[in-house]
Amino acid sequence: MGSSSRLYADIMAFNKEVTGSAITVDIHFPNDTTKKVLVDFGLYQESEYSKLNKVIPFNVFDVDYVIVTHNHVDHTGRLPYLVSKGYNGDIHMSNTTSKLISYALHDSYSVLKNKSKMLNEPQLYTDGDVDETLKRIKGHPFEKSIQLDENIKFTFFKNGHLPGAVVILLQVKYHDCSHKHYEDINLIFTGDYNNQNIFFDVDPIPNWVHELPVSIIQESTYGDMNSTDVEYVFEKNILDAVSSKKKILIPVFSLGRAQEVLYFLKKWQDEGKLDKSIPIYLDGKLAIKYTGIYLRDGLDNKEECRHFLPENFSYVSDKCQRSSIIECTECSILLATSGMGSNGPCRTLIPQYLKNPNALIHFTGYCAENTMGRRLYDCKNGELVDCCGLKVIKLATVLYTLEISAHGKGDVLIEFLKPFIHKKLVLVNHGTIKKKDIYTCRVVNETNVKDVGILGGDYVYRVDGYGLVKTLIPEFR
Ligand SMILES: [Zn+2]
Ligand SMILES: [Zn+2]
Repeated sequence: MGSSSRLYADIMAFNKEVTGSAITVDIHFPNDTTKKVLVDFGLYQESEYSKLNKVIPFNVFDVDYVIVTHNHVDHTGRLPYLVSKGYNGDIHMSNTTSKLISYALHDSYSVLKNKSKMLNEPQLYTDGDVDETLKRIKGHPFEKSIQLDENIKFTFFKNGHLPGAVVILLQVKYHDCSHKHYEDINLIFTGDYNNQNIFFDVDPIPNWVHELPVSIIQESTYGDMNSTDVEYVFEKNILDAVSSKKKILIPVFSLGRAQEVLYFLKKWQDEGKLDKSIPIYLDGKLAIKYTGIYLRDGLDNKEECRHFLPENFSYVSDKCQRSSIIECTECSILLATSGMGSNGPCRTLIPQYLKNPNALIHFTGYCAENTMGRRLYDCKNGELVDCCGLKVIKLATVLYTLEISAHGKGDVLIEFLKPFIHKKLVLVNHGTIKKKDIYTCRVVNETNVKDVGILGGDYVYRVDGYGLVKTLIPEFR
């Protein structure tokens, strides 16, 4: 039997580590036709990979369908580049992501514009490319199968990573006129995954999906640790700092994290733990826009989470207000973007707070290499730190927590796999090289999956309805 009479899909990822997410699925049909599905097309943000942003390692005109897992730029930030290079099909995502993505892409355009000015390099894409991209967006509800053509369909399942985030089930069927049977190919893409979210309920994956023979492409950002390893210190750290009348700066991601931290502050006020006279501020254009959408639209959020703004709260509307918050010596809580401290108002705020021995800077998530958050982590009190060109002595207290993370830990990821009855193949994706290795060992040891591999540019994985057929060396290397 020649390869022309077979149904298979070649799966390949191009990013070695966390950012620049892009997975291609090349489906080969028995009648020798092919279809290419692209899942996510994100920006590389690790500085050592950023040159790869200009590289599209496949022919754009071969792409038939684009599906997006969630509204983070490391998964969506190169979509306008793809469109500028000739992709003119639809871009599929959840209804909620379709309401949020325009803000993220316009913001990513401004960040890239500033960077290209600084480096004196041509810009990756224009504002017009963002507008063209937005025209191609198609929003879909959860748990409704969407037929892309007579052979390919997908279904979105709710994912706690972010509002609008999905787990994708991609299904390929083929019938020919001789009624020869071809086993369906079922692929699951977890995207960035969490099994819970404080703002909305995450329904479990339905049983009919767990009964399918599947190949699963799974993230592994925190695959090297367990939920029980996380220390819950945020509430105590913030309330202690308030009792000592400190000025508090909390770097936050604009979508999800900013709103979650506001929700916690309101909860502590309602429980009488946090004095309502302490002023609370949110600084960062995109975070303020997203907070407005949460409040106006409700997204998929639970009724009891619709009103999450604490008392004595205001948005920081201009530089003047920011300066007066910096200058004021009274206790206050300021949430500001970006979450890792390197961009947004944090660029201005961190150097000012850092030199104040009466200040607390509390990071609320993972800080990648070469970010301000990581530099502060690696530096002792009293040492000189580079803050975007300024040399500042670290006098403030700097603390960290992973408890509000949007990614499930290794135990959650393993639990996600277990209910699938016929796990043919797991491909571990989206983690640092070390974390992917550690989590891969766990999958091999703790689940009954038939085959396990690591996705990240080294191999193409050929699968059919029975699981792995073989691995291949990618052609573009
Ligand atoms: Zn994400
Ligand atoms: Zn991601």
